[in-house]
Amino acid sequence: MENEEKSILIKTYSIVFLQQLPEVRGYRNRAFAFMTLYEYAVNARKLAHAPFSKFRVGAAIEYEDGRVFTGCNIENASYGLTMCAERVAVFKAVSEGAGKAIAVMVVADTQTLTPPCGACRQLLWEFCGEAELTMANLAGKRECVSIREIFPRPFDASFL
Ligand SMILES: [Zn+2]
Repeated sequence: MENEEKSILIKTYSIVFLQQLPEVRGYRNRAFAFMTLYEYAVNARKLAHAPFSKFRVGAAIEYEDGRVFTGCNIENASYGLTMCAERVAVFKAVSEGAGKAIAVMVVADTQTLTPPCGACRQLLWEFCGEAELTMANLAGKRECVSIREIFPRPFDASFL
């Protein structure tokens, strides 16, 4: 992505975020008039740092308080430290005190829709277990599933 395009995108996110601060609750409808969850994920995908695989993924999670947190995959030269878009979004949300997640959107540029990997399924179950998960591609193909459906018989806090 060109630097100019990237800076416009980052600026747009900042504006949305700042607008959300004064009135978090009730912002949802206005936020969605501006950008849908799909658009958040598509835009987040543009910021992916994937110089090795070139496989870009964007994620967006909508919370009950009206906030939307996004993530993109971030690769690393060590490979092993690479982080998926879904987990980036979850960590951003948790670190900002987000409450209950109601919808998760994952976008990749694949004909067959890209599901979250195993590690992300564990995190999504623990932090967004009741949210509806939509997988989508850039052509607009979508499929909606429950997180329980893609992560049956989970290990979670109930075992601890
Ligand atoms: Zn993952």
